[in-house]
Amino acid sequence: DVGMNVPDKQVDSVCPYCGVGCQLTYNIKDNKILYVEGRDGPANRERLCVKGRYGFDYANHPHRLTKPLIRRADAPKRGDFVMDPDRVMEVFREATWEEALEVAGGNFAKIRDTHGKKSLAGFGSAKGSNEEAYLFQKLVRTGFGSNNVDHCTRLCHASSVVALLEGIGSGAVSNPVMDVTKAEVVIIIGANPTVNHPVAATWIKNAVSNGTKLIVCDPRRTDMARIAHRFMQFKADTDVAMLNAMMNVIVTEGLVDKEFIESRTIGYEELRKNVEGYTPELMAPICGIDAETLRYVARLYATSKASMILWGMGVSQHIHGTDNARCLIALSLMTGQIGRPGTGLHPLRGQNNVQGASDAGLIPMVYPDYQSVSDPKIRANFAKAWNMSVDLLDPEPGLTVVEIMHAITDGKIRGLYVQGENPAMSDPDANHAREALAALDHLVVQDIFLTETAYLADVILPASAFPEKTGTFTNTDRTVQMGRQALNPPGEAKQDLWIIQQMANRLGCNWNYKHVSEVFDEMRHTMPSIAGITWERLEREDSVTYPCEKEGDPGEPVVFVDSFPRESGRARFVPADIIPAAERPDTEYPMVLITGRQLEHWHTGSMTRRATVLDSIEPDPIALIHPLDLANMGGKPGDIITLESRRGEVSLYARADDSSPRGAVFVPFCYYEAAINRLTNAALDPFGKIPEFKYCAIRIHLGGAA
Ligand code: SF4
Repeated sequence: DVGMNVPDKQVDSVCPYCGVGCQLTYNIKDNKILYVEGRDGPANRERLCVKGRYGFDYANHPHRLTKPLIRRADAPKRGDFVMDPDRVMEVFREATWEEALEVAGGNFAKIRDTHGKKSLAGFGSAKGSNEEAYLFQKLVRTGFGSNNVDHCTRLCHASSVVALLEGIGSGAVSNPVMDVTKAEVVIIIGANPTVNHPVAATWIKNAVSNGTKLIVCDPRRTDMARIAHRFMQFKADTDVAMLNAMMNVIVTEGLVDKEFIESRTIGYEELRKNVEGYTPELMAPICGIDAETLRYVARLYATSKASMILWGMGVSQHIHGTDNARCLIALSLMTGQIGRPGTGLHPLRGQNNVQGASDAGLIPMVYPDYQSVSDPKIRANFAKAWNMSVDLLDPEPGLTVVEIMHAITDGKIRGLYVQGENPAMSDPDANHAREALAALDHLVVQDIFLTETAYLADVILPASAFPEKTGTFTNTDRTVQMGRQALNPPGEAKQDLWIIQQMANRLGCNWNYKHVSEVFDEMRHTMPSIAGITWERLEREDSVTYPCEKEGDPGEPVVFVDSFPRESGRARFVPADIIPAAERPDTEYPMVLITGRQLEHWHTGSMTRRATVLDSIEPDPIALIHPLDLANMGGKPGDIITLESRRGEVSLYARADDSSPRGAVFVPFCYYEAAINRLTNAALDPFGKIPEFKYCAIRIHLGGAA
């Protein structure tokens, strides 16, 4: 049938996966996506990667949740973590929406009224829209009555955001990714854009073809290293040593931008004194980069007309993640490499809306637009906007993701509402996280699949997949973009915005939003950075970059041109010293585990493992290990190996990978069969409260059951 693949409609939207925020068009027939095409968006100019182009049929997967489910009174004990989609009905029974919402919301209200407002918490989602994130945090703050709301930013760039807010007054990027094409020098550190931000990687490759000098700094020899002008394969966990040595060179050789330091910054003297002792000669054996290379790269970065730094979770996911980011900020400030096209700081954001979800207030310390919950004036503003007494707003910051898990174990938190996150897979020390989730009095999960977290729930609310809803999404470049509904949700699944509103009303909120645009309108009236963006303009133009404070403002892709949004208008240097990882290898656990993502799969895999093309390319759990390490233990590629830490063990297939350093193993965290976060360490960075996913001690042996 020649007409079989002819779409009956086309819908313009954005990609549901990474923070690059590629614009795309869904081609639909009979409520199914036939194929996807790239559009001319500011971040992608018609390009798409394998996930954006082929990762769409999860939306029609037979595993979709289509009816509300309530845990059976005689269900097997929670804590049996082996999921079997064919035996779901032994654990859950189907319910009407009315009953499910009554049980879900009603039990939260009972816990709140019996054990106090702080006995409840919520995890929102960076995969949801800005409007969902905004309503979710509003529900927790006004319906639950505390600030115990967080989301996966805590697990990816919380430390970067703390350092950026402290140093330059804004937690977002200073320049868009596309600015790499205007830079003379680009440093990528602790990021693997070919895998995690593939379309951004293509712009970097284009820049290199046009003469930009690329410096790649990473313990693993990533794909980008092949085209790098210099590749600095530093020892894992030694970022501060390497970066302080580079700053030492810039200071001692007089390569600082004196005028910029004097007119636009504070705290330089303290920073200068701190890096005095970090000479390249002393740091070379620590970080594994020879002194001459440290000198060469420092000079190159400092003296180019425009140098830009991009970083990822290799920087942020350490107990010294905030210190790592502080060093990157200091590098750019001391050389004046910020505030112009082709310069600046760009923490590559992970999820397609992690920037927006953070902006919209899914953070326990701040309301939307990073306004402190502890500031009485700000609380009064939000009480007014939300039409409530200020006395009802909690003046204390709430708990973060990992703190919430500990508070559950301590009996302080008894009820948890999870929208679209999968902490049973994504949290560090996942065995502990799962025990905590199983110990809750009341767990409500709103999702599109029976995730590992949903399996532990008391009530499951079937939600909408990305192409089934309309809303705005903010990419890594601070660009707010319109995502449009292309499909209808299956069965009785509902749109997340509707579900959140129903839940809020069962907690006494009395909301009546009739359209997603009403939520956006409320947001922009509480968030100065997007105050000038109207729903109509987004419908018309598809995307606007904030800050956009007044209607008609064009939006600002490059910020900090004249000043920084801090009290004095000046940025602040914050020195950092070497702090080792919380768990170093020893004789018992002699190797290092590094976790991350792989190109074809997304985070905990709930979507991409159900996308036919993507799962057929990478169907099995793998560990990337140096061929010599594998050979030394008598193994060969494809063998099953077992990885063990002090917290748990998993077995998976060994893949020989000479880009991994000797003594380190890299494992993607997307495989439920080998949930690698059972092994990771929940130790936290004290400032960003981010766990150390990028470093813990393990041992390995051949064999096991994969
Ligand atoms: Fe989607 Fe990111 Fe790939 Fe673009 S680069 S298509 S946003 S996953």
